[in-house]
Amino acid sequence: MFIDIHAHTTRGRSIVELNGRQYMTTPEELVKRYDQLGIEKAVLLPLVNPENTPGIYQSNEEILQITRDFAGRFVPFCNVDPRARNHWQAPLNKILDCYRQAGFLGLGEVSANLPFLDAKVQNLFAAAEENNFLLTFHISPFLNYSYGLVDDSGLPQLEESLRRFPKLRFLGHSQAFWAEISTIRTVDDRFGYPTGPVTEGAVPRLLRQYPNLYGDLSAGSGYNALARDREYAVKFLSEFQDRLLFGTDICAPGTPTPLVDFLLELRSSGEISEVVFQKIARGNAERLLAR
Ligand SMILES: [Zn+2]
Repeated sequence: MFIDIHAHTTRGRSIVELNGRQYMTTPEELVKRYDQLGIEKAVLLPLVNPENTPGIYQSNEEILQITRDFAGRFVPFCNVDPRARNHWQAPLNKILDCYRQAGFLGLGEVSANLPFLDAKVQNLFAAAEENNFLLTFHISPFLNYSYGLVDDSGLPQLEESLRRFPKLRFLGHSQAFWAEISTIRTVDDRFGYPTGPVTEGAVPRLLRQYPNLYGDLSAGSGYNALARDREYAVKFLSEFQDRLLFGTDICAPGTPTPLVDFLLELRSSGEISEVVFQKIARGNAERLLAR
């Protein structure tokens, strides 16, 4: 029923714990979980940035092998750290072309802790656009804070990137992205899961203005952006029904997936139509992932 636009897994048990608590989920565990949740398949995002999960460095080859081992269940994205042999005009387009020819459909989750407008990041975006890749990214509210590309409140650097690369489809994700569904009240909003009614912020404005922006609803951040104001969520899901994508961001066997129940509930109560549900649950992903 669902297609998951955002998941992580390692072949075999990860040696290092994730967040000091749980291990990464294996593909076998993930497929079992998907069968219970009604998720047909998922985009796998390699973890390659050193900030992301200390001790877990994946190869694009590992992700490709997993998609081959579980045919039909996974879609591979590649990932390249923008600092790897990169400068403002390094030929990353040729490297991404190799990945495209090998069967990868996108790039991400880009999680390097560099500003969006850093020349190395912009060069990576240009290479992704040239290869017609989808781009999944995580936003960090500050430099030297956690993982993710850095932007300021209001997302001006993302906006400039959307303007510079009109053919690159940006899949927005993370706390600092989804907090901007509403106006930012205090700096704390950008770090987590702000509550209370939505007064429209940068995300709906950018979705209206830039057709190359999409919303990846995975993780606690995507769910929270909707659940904090159910009435606004219904309007938001309907207005942007062609641009929003169901996702989980499962990393560990126990990662919660509250969005599954939330979307099913909105459908069964009639708050969102069957058409809107189907597009967000899987239709938009099918369209974006079609070659
Ligand atoms: Zn993720």
